[in-house]
Amino acid sequence: MMSEKKDIRALTKTELREFFVSEGDKAFRGNQVYEWLWSKSAHSFEDMTNISLETRKMLEDNFVINHIKVDHMQRSSDGTVKNAVKLHDGLIVESVLIPTESRTTACVSSQVGCSLDCNFCATARLKKMRNLNPDEIFDQVAAINQESLLYYNHKLSNIVFMGMGEPLMNYNNVLKAIEKITSPEGLGISPRRITVSTSGLPKMIKKLADDEVKFNLAVSLHSAIDEVRSEIMPFSKAFPLKDLKESLEYWYAKTESRVTYEYVVWKGINDSKEAINALVKFCKYIPCKVNLIEYNPIDDGDFQQANQQAISDYISILEMNDIIVNVRRSRGKDIDAACGQLANKKS
Ligand code: SAH
Repeated sequence: MMSEKKDIRALTKTELREFFVSEGDKAFRGNQVYEWLWSKSAHSFEDMTNISLETRKMLEDNFVINHIKVDHMQRSSDGTVKNAVKLHDGLIVESVLIPTESRTTACVSSQVGCSLDCNFCATARLKKMRNLNPDEIFDQVAAINQESLLYYNHKLSNIVFMGMGEPLMNYNNVLKAIEKITSPEGLGISPRRITVSTSGLPKMIKKLADDEVKFNLAVSLHSAIDEVRSEIMPFSKAFPLKDLKESLEYWYAKTESRVTYEYVVWKGINDSKEAINALVKFCKYIPCKVNLIEYNPIDDGDFQQANQQAISDYISILEMNDIIVNVRRSRGKDIDAACGQLANKKS
């Protein structure tokens, strides 16, 4: 029986070089093939024209090149583009291109579905099916980069890991993908332009700090009061805010990189003065900024965006305390491409 062929893009450059040496070829051949796979996005061994026919045949016999396919693309009236991406096993994830005047941002997924259970997020309702591989994450970014060139005439400028899934529950693959995205042989995008957003897993935040990553960190805080936070994000019962605080202090001590707190204000949940004061206190632990995100309703109405007065109170009290605060309007709502709306629904 024939053994199953391996995905060649799961190999590192070193592994690829070693493979060629073990086949009696030169290590350098590994570099050539690596370049075809990553910077030239080759979809088949046939494309690798500077590799001999015989070697291409040998690769064909041993490996496959799994590539994602943009299955369905939608464009919003505000220019946002949503890709439904089909993986080699038929599962679907979504990624989004968000244009602003000066830049384009890719919002990419790290898991099929999500491991966590935030009550306000549509993705949480899909059960987690699997982690994405590094190449599947990389391919989403490469596809959006091409769309950015096509529609907006410039390369992708920023990447946020705010699509489906919890990136820090797929730690190794997300880091491997970022390595490819930032390397000159991949897309050469600076890590300073990449933000990984986590719902706040203290151990993994410390691991990021230990690994001395150079990208930005965002934490979906939504409440700085344990009882409230564990009500709306039940998994967080296991990760009290004091642990989160401690991990963020550790992160800042090692990286000196300011953290962004993502925060939605909901009616009757976190729109009180007490909630604001708790956030102010939390923001004093390390240098940070707060992004107030507009709520994107996902259904029934347990969660409703707070009124404008509550948002204004947040802004003025944060600013009074010298905390940077931005209000992030939603993009792509008409095509279910906004935060928390990614749930493989075609509109
Ligand atoms: N799991 C990661 C990344 C995915 S969610 C995380 O939790 O950070 C990306 C952001 O969208 C998070 O800040 C999340 O809390 C927010 N979000 C989820 N559902 C939302 C909704 N319905 N409206 C607005 N923001 C939402």
